[in-house]
Amino acid sequence: MSAIVDRLVKYCRIPSQSNPQTSATVPSTASQFAMVEALAEDLRALGALDVRVDEHAYLTAHWPASPGLGDLPALGFCCHVDTAFQSYGDPVFPQVRRYEGGELVIGTGRDGRTVAISPATNPQLAHMVGWELVTTDGTSLLGGDDKAGDAACLELLARLKADPALPHPRLSLAFVPDEEIGHGAALLDLEAFGAPWGYTIDGGPLGEICYETFNAVEAHVRAHGVSVHTGTAKGHMVNASEAIMRFHQLLPAAERPEYTEGYDGFYFLERLEGSCEEAVADYIIRDHDRRKVEQRMQVMRQAVRLVNGQYGSEVLEIEMSEQYRNLADVVTRPENAHLIANAKAAFAACGVEPYCVPMRGGTDGSQLSFRGFPCINLSACYYNAHGVREFVPVPELERLVDVLVELVGLYARPQRG
Ligand SMILES: [Zn+2]
Repeated sequence: MSAIVDRLVKYCRIPSQSNPQTSATVPSTASQFAMVEALAEDLRALGALDVRVDEHAYLTAHWPASPGLGDLPALGFCCHVDTAFQSYGDPVFPQVRRYEGGELVIGTGRDGRTVAISPATNPQLAHMVGWELVTTDGTSLLGGDDKAGDAACLELLARLKADPALPHPRLSLAFVPDEEIGHGAALLDLEAFGAPWGYTIDGGPLGEICYETFNAVEAHVRAHGVSVHTGTAKGHMVNASEAIMRFHQLLPAAERPEYTEGYDGFYFLERLEGSCEEAVADYIIRDHDRRKVEQRMQVMRQAVRLVNGQYGSEVLEIEMSEQYRNLADVVTRPENAHLIANAKAAFAACGVEPYCVPMRGGTDGSQLSFRGFPCINLSACYYNAHGVREFVPVPELERLVDVLVELVGLYARPQRG
């Protein structure tokens, strides 16, 4: 196996799911420390400078510029160390499988059903016959999102170390927790990080460049019911769960993740829990267009008013807060144009056709860009993220490292806005 596959498998084996229920503390889960410690150890072994893990599981490090290029601005790279909470993520059993065409059965799921990766849902597999794929055994997600990004960053440094003739500016590296729960690298010390611009490596298929993200809002709906013995409930009982269901029915049914794509926004019911006495529903709202997100927030408030009106009391309450904003607002400014241009050039130099997609999610880059570190997102080569069919094709991941070597080379000269 190639060195990067070893790295990816090693990192995927370390469970590091974040948890929205414990998001008040950073990291939301202690397990993320194990992942940053493994990365820190590997960074030190490679010879990275200033390797530091802080109390919030933020790992930062620097890599010195090649000789004579110490005066150039640093180039930053940022990846996340947590994995998604929406699927099983502990334990993770990664495996490397050769794809021979047709369906690839990877194992048996926790429900006893066969788990397969299929060309019907992944037409890209047509180009992958004979390739090695890193998958799980079907019982959990892989966590290639974003451990493929972590592995690629480390492998970039290994390449620069092995070939000192490769030109590059000083590199700033950050590995951050809780990206999957919208934390967005909020506690990254940008001054210590010390790069005026850069890239997150947290995207899909090789060649993907993303500089448009959703605007993101989370909404928590709470219902307060009145529990009464069912035999004497008439006229007294207020069923909190019924109130939440009524609220949900007032949201546009077609605007759900499973019916939307491209620039469509949505409401997503992320969690639902309830009894007669009390019920809660957690939603997220997403749209590339800020105004449409605000309209959706308005629809939710109206739905709450309507349900409360029907019950004649304040059965429902709603709280909403912004999670991140569309990073296009920052990175398409003329002074940041080199970010997209250089990414495209680096892919093209490695024989990869670059393509831009509006990201149907966020990246750490959304918040970082608004905080003064403009950055766009590059492919990390994971497919089917956040589920048991997640996989990473090895040839793509290896090529990604070539692309990163090209990219740091393009920053070995001053950038024009
Ligand atoms: Zn990710």
